[in-house]
Amino acid sequence: MNILAIGAHPDDLELMCAGTLARYAATGHKVIMCYATNGNMGHMTMPPSELAQLRMTEAKRAASTVGADFEWINLPDEWVFEDEDTRRVFVDVVRKHQPQVVITHSASDYHPDHRAVYNLVFSATFLATVPQIGGPFETLAAVPSIYCMDTLGGFAFTPEQYVDITGVFDVKAKALAEHESQVRWLQEHDGIDVLDWMRVTSEFRGLQAGCRYAEAFVLEKRWPAVPAQRQLP
Ligand SMILES: [Zn+2]
Repeated sequence: MNILAIGAHPDDLELMCAGTLARYAATGHKVIMCYATNGNMGHMTMPPSELAQLRMTEAKRAASTVGADFEWINLPDEWVFEDEDTRRVFVDVVRKHQPQVVITHSASDYHPDHRAVYNLVFSATFLATVPQIGGPFETLAAVPSIYCMDTLGGFAFTPEQYVDITGVFDVKAKALAEHESQVRWLQEHDGIDVLDWMRVTSEFRGLQAGCRYAEAFVLEKRWPAVPAQRQLP
């Protein structure tokens, strides 16, 4: 399968689904890690244009660590909206990668960019199948499944499916650590050690699922994209 994971900011996918993506990649599926924004607001002092470059470099390293291809949409951090132009950009990204499975944020997550990306993914995965909507890439043959990944802090999120990431936890931790600027920013701005925060979350989902470390997902139930068989690793 082609697995397209779309996160709002560089580090969201690493926090919430990089273990699952690493498992997909290790078993021969094609995985694309797509970053919607350039993360250019995530620093105390560095100018946004400079930070955007740094964050792209970090994200490329993280995707490479997971064994995924890299896609960079380059929207401005903190200002994602579902307008017509942005929706078309998402349609193009979906068509370019022809996914059977899309992983993205939950609609109930804490950050406005996360919620906006969820809405954009929901819209674009359907619109990508409509031939009369033009664009540079081939129309999608079928609406892909959407799996919503965990929310920050697990709020308003009741997991339905778990993926045991115990065997790839080190890969996930290394991918997250590639976002060096964010490890520092989250310490300074939010007072958290994001690497430890990720470990606790993975461990708690693992506790629920009866393994050491896990990631949790909810399948978006909408016609005609509900699979009859399990698609997660
Ligand atoms: Zn984020």
